[in-house]
Amino acid sequence: MQISCFGSSEKAPNALPAPPRLRTLVSLSCGISSQEFLQTIQNLGVQQIWDIRLTPTYVSRFKRPDYGSDQQLFREMCTQMSVEYRHVPIFAPTQEMRHAFNRATENSDTRLGAWTSYLEDLEVLMQERRAITLSQEGLNQAPEVVAAVCSCHYHDDCHRSYVTAMLHHYIQGVYIHVVDPNKEKRRPKYPRRWRQHDFPMVGLLANAPQKS
Ligand SMILES: [Zn+2]
Repeated sequence: MQISCFGSSEKAPNALPAPPRLRTLVSLSCGISSQEFLQTIQNLGVQQIWDIRLTPTYVSRFKRPDYGSDQQLFREMCTQMSVEYRHVPIFAPTQEMRHAFNRATENSDTRLGAWTSYLEDLEVLMQERRAITLSQEGLNQAPEVVAAVCSCHYHDDCHRSYVTAMLHHYIQGVYIHVVDPNKEKRRPKYPRRWRQHDFPMVGLLANAPQKS
């Protein structure tokens, strides 16, 4: 029997197509304590952070007297751990969406549907921005474990639930790992958790208040 060896530059005749590179996309809050955040990214082997917020500022819990602004501290902490930090505004909502959501939650008539409308607007925005196509290249070049971060504590209450699901559904080899802080502390009737209908494009199911 003859066994052929193919070097990296050679291609075997009738070779199978290259398998997709697997990526883990960690959905993580940066609104938790710095200690917990750093421990989590270390435990999960996160190599790159995608900050998907509109305004990447940091909560006071990150602040220490011997550091500068919260943002500097956050970036320094990432660098010290050899984790690359990137602000990725293509996945961020617009200021108008945030204002509309806040206005809607103040009114008892629109409060229930506020998060649904927000996600609907985000869906349109992602399509307008061609977010899947444009992020494919970024993901191809990304390391194996990337964390999508926003300040919201819980995945379901955050636009990262939509963004990570979108990348998982449309880009081969992308898996989601959700990190939620202490679930017992979740407010049961938080308006950011109520989805009044399914979002089939990303596989998010309706989530009525009574199910929260
Ligand atoms: Zn968020």
